Amino acid sequence: MDDVIAIAEPQAKPAATYVNVLYERLGAVARISHNRPAQRNAENTPLLDEMDAALREAIADPLVRVIVIAGVGDHFSAGHDLKEAMSDRSLYTVEQRWEYEATRYYGYSLRIWDCPKPTIAQVQGACVGGAFMVANMCDLVVASDEAYFSDPVCQTLAAAAVEVLVHPWVMGLRTAKEFLYTGERMPAAEAHRIGMVNRVTPRAELEAETLALAEKIARTPPFALQVLKRSLNRTADIQGFRNALSAHFDTHQVTHVTDETRRIREDGAGAAISRGRN
Ligand code: ZN
Repeated sequence: MDDVIAIAEPQAKPAATYVNVLYERLGAVARISHNRPAQRNAENTPLLDEMDAALREAIADPLVRVIVIAGVGDHFSAGHDLKEAMSDRSLYTVEQRWEYEATRYYGYSLRIWDCPKPTIAQVQGACVGGAFMVANMCDLVVASDEAYFSDPVCQTLAAAAVEVLVHPWVMGLRTAKEFLYTGERMPAAEAHRIGMVNRVTPRAELEAETLALAEKIARTPPFALQVLKRSLNRTADIQGFRNALSAHFDTHQVTHVTDETRRIREDGAGAAISRGRN
């Protein structure tokens, strides 16, 4: 048996295997897609955990210069998985929910915001609730002409918006108020007009347009880009961005344990989802 020569296997680390996200390396661009198309890419716990792991993988990969966050299928994402939330977490204590949301909603979102590499959200179809939060943590947003944005959780769940109140920062205060007070959908064209979306493309061209933009950015000297992003984000921080987000997170937690939310919980997830569709 000594004469058997071991054939050297490539010792590359096995690529992380994701089930609920699709991780693609397209040259210098990493594309991380929500991948539960049959559930309109609803963000359940495994998806959120994989999305964060994939983001960390892309950040650590020296060959990745730009990160695109996308969705497989007809929708970017319908937001947090309400069925999972209501079946698994509706009886959470304040402490348990705080821990869950501080990690998976607030922490993961801020990791996108703080990502040292440029990020682009590629949005088609629905971008709702928790997904609105994720897309708007990205530096740039490219949307297809049929995409729409909404955050109806005040109307559907009696929660004070989603956990990360990025809305006034990306929409302007007055528009954010109307958007949140009504829960109405904002079409991509309007989101572009108010400056929340950088580019709008026909649905068929969304991927190519986003990739072309990512590749263009990927040719920029990466360190300069990294510190430029740092300065731009600090500009928001100096205006109170991080403190305002942090304060809202605390306030949002209170609205999970009100009489209003208790009554909605008693009606069940189906009623909340159908309210959201109206
Ligand atoms: Zn919450």
